[in-house]
Amino acid sequence: MRNAFGLMLMSLAAATLIATAGWFWTSHRSSAAPQTFAAAQATPAPVHAKPLASRDPIETTGSIPEKAPAAPALQPKQTCANPDALGVSRVVEIDTTGGPGFGFEHFKQIDFLGDKEVVLSFDDSPWPVNTPAVLKALADQCTKAMFFSIGKHATFHPEILRQVAAAGHTVGTHTWSHANLNSKKLNEQTVKDEIEKGNSAVKLALGTAPAPFFRFPELQHNPAAVAYLGTRNIAMFSCDLDSFDFRAKSPEQVINTVMTKLDKQGKGIILMHDFQKHTAEAMPELLRRLKAGGYKIVFMKPKAPMQTLPEYDEAMMKDMKLPVAGVRPVNTIVQTVSQ
Ligand SMILES: [Zn+2]
Repeated sequence: MRNAFGLMLMSLAAATLIATAGWFWTSHRSSAAPQTFAAAQATPAPVHAKPLASRDPIETTGSIPEKAPAAPALQPKQTCANPDALGVSRVVEIDTTGGPGFGFEHFKQIDFLGDKEVVLSFDDSPWPVNTPAVLKALADQCTKAMFFSIGKHATFHPEILRQVAAAGHTVGTHTWSHANLNSKKLNEQTVKDEIEKGNSAVKLALGTAPAPFFRFPELQHNPAAVAYLGTRNIAMFSCDLDSFDFRAKSPEQVINTVMTKLDKQGKGIILMHDFQKHTAEAMPELLRRLKAGGYKIVFMKPKAPMQTLPEYDEAMMKDMKLPVAGVRPVNTIVQTVSQ
């Protein structure tokens, strides 16, 4: 009896060990492993870029779901089809309580990256053609990034922003209309509105709360705005390395600026714009150069989702619905009477 009981205990212990090891393996694989699923999700949709002049929220109202779609499913276990992929070397979870600041250009308290460690971040998302191209390049290299979405852009192209989230990237926010929050023209209430409208618009577009990660447009902040975000437990992101890709005249220039700065600094949070054509075109080669240079990607994700403010969520829902009210089917308004 004692022997049988002992054997039973031993096999129980072994089973627990195997189960734990299995969990460790799968959970680490699923969070850090490169992903082919992302590649399928990130295939550029046939979305046509609109000229900037046509940025009118009314025309895109129909694409905002009335009812929030279900949150993207937790990422299934995935493997990377590219054996030479850049991948993700480390995933870090950020506790945003009190609004910590990242990026040594402005916030110099938190130094968490090791030598050769790099965080990829993209601003002004989402935008047709360029954002899907960036997503494809990241998926091909089985790697992950942060995207800071402008609220208005999110309402124009919610389907593209959902592709970003579905591919497992972190989606943070970047105000409603890309206002310079350090401008003397903005009062405290306007600054709050810019931040919170942006947050709620991104949430509405995604169908789920974004990360409590925020980047100031033009990297312009002031103490009052920083204090406000702190009370909202939203982490603030500057950068360690600005690509200045919006000034670049070619993809090569984006690559050269990033690699030159990186080789000098050795690590850092890189700021780019998925909104920019040259950046989108630069991504496949830039990611290859990062891999060849021995750089490792660190993926930042939040410990908990952003808590948006209900009054702004409601206002945004109303705003999005307003233009729809009273709109009849086109064929009841416009009829061909002669041809
Ligand atoms: Zn921006």
